[in-house]
Amino acid sequence: MTRDYLKGSNYNDLYPEDLYEKVKKEKRVKKAKKVLLVGLALVTALSAAVAFKKPYYETNAGQKTSSAYNTEALAYPGLAASANLQSISTQHNLEKAEKMSVIASSDSISIIGVGDIMPGTNYPSSHLPGKNILGNVEDILKDADITFGNLEGTILNSGGTPKTGENCFAFRMPDNTVDYLKEAGFDALSLANNHSRDFGTVGATNTMNLLDNAGIHYAGLAECPYTIFEKEGVKYGFCAFAPDYSGTMHFADAVKTIKYLDSRCDMVIVSFHVGAEGNACQHITRKTEYFLGENRGDPYHFAREAIDAGADVVFGEGPHVTRAVDIYKNRFIAYSMGNFATYGMFDLSNACGVSPIIKITVDKTGKLLSGKIYSVKLEGKGVPVLDKNNTALKNIIQLTKADVPETQLIIESDGTIKVNK
Ligand SMILES: [Zn+2]
Repeated sequence: MTRDYLKGSNYNDLYPEDLYEKVKKEKRVKKAKKVLLVGLALVTALSAAVAFKKPYYETNAGQKTSSAYNTEALAYPGLAASANLQSISTQHNLEKAEKMSVIASSDSISIIGVGDIMPGTNYPSSHLPGKNILGNVEDILKDADITFGNLEGTILNSGGTPKTGENCFAFRMPDNTVDYLKEAGFDALSLANNHSRDFGTVGATNTMNLLDNAGIHYAGLAECPYTIFEKEGVKYGFCAFAPDYSGTMHFADAVKTIKYLDSRCDMVIVSFHVGAEGNACQHITRKTEYFLGENRGDPYHFAREAIDAGADVVFGEGPHVTRAVDIYKNRFIAYSMGNFATYGMFDLSNACGVSPIIKITVDKTGKLLSGKIYSVKLEGKGVPVLDKNNTALKNIIQLTKADVPETQLIIESDGTIKVNK
């Protein structure tokens, strides 16, 4: 997909340069104001501590106060314990209090990533398991603030026009796939891959509508290059990219999109569908990879460009095998997470039949704190179950040693991820 593809769409309206610069400037001003306000609030709190020996709740015990005042005091108990709320009587000062409370919080965020998901297709013939194949591992999937995966297909009960061509498979997952994904705890899905338009615009539109109804966020098509959403007070930006598949977001647009999200969000999650496919392609090459004559990109350099632009987590998939993991500027990278739940239509031999669930914990600026790799194997026609042999983990340890020996990541034999400082 070249830039020309996007002519006539509203893409250019989404990121006009002047708007981007304006947003950046607003963010800088906001940051400066925040620092000033926190300083003011601290000074207020310190002088209050000197002036009043009694703790806050005693000071106010017998006083009648406005309901707004009480609401705010309840909302920011940490602040109430340390500062003199008598001085925080105006809305302006309450804003100060809010900012101070946010800064004081040092909560971390947990994010899970998995690879390709296609839990059953009704085309060209029925390969449907008749149940939610994600159920065996849903307890792990649900145990994070954000759970991400790559949706490798179109959700559509019937109809649509299947794509045709050599070496060409088309996947049409029934509508209840969305319920399965929701039940399993998915928050964000990439649609930037070679199957999200298997049934044309009809299929893509149905997929997006159903995900919207289920409250699952998605990105990676020209209609939805990125998404911004909030969860538990954290503002996430999510975008996804792929090679030249018609109507998906192309690598060439990545830097601009990521910078835009970085200017607006606390946490930027980037997905890419990059690299050659199959058991012979487990290693990253640090060069552009080709498969079936297609340019499939260079995951090593793409990940770095993404992080330079503001990405906080980079989740790769596409090769249908698991690849190395890495860290750059304190940000986590998974080069490829393999087949996670691909039912019926996929080669599941050797490395294609195992994959990780990667759970990372980052601080609120996106820096990697720690992580855990769980190993999954695909049983039967492609049902993910936990793998006691930890094959995916063993593969990741070996591949990481071989392909990025200089990495600061330490991956232990129990799957723990640490950062070597
Ligand atoms: Zn793919």
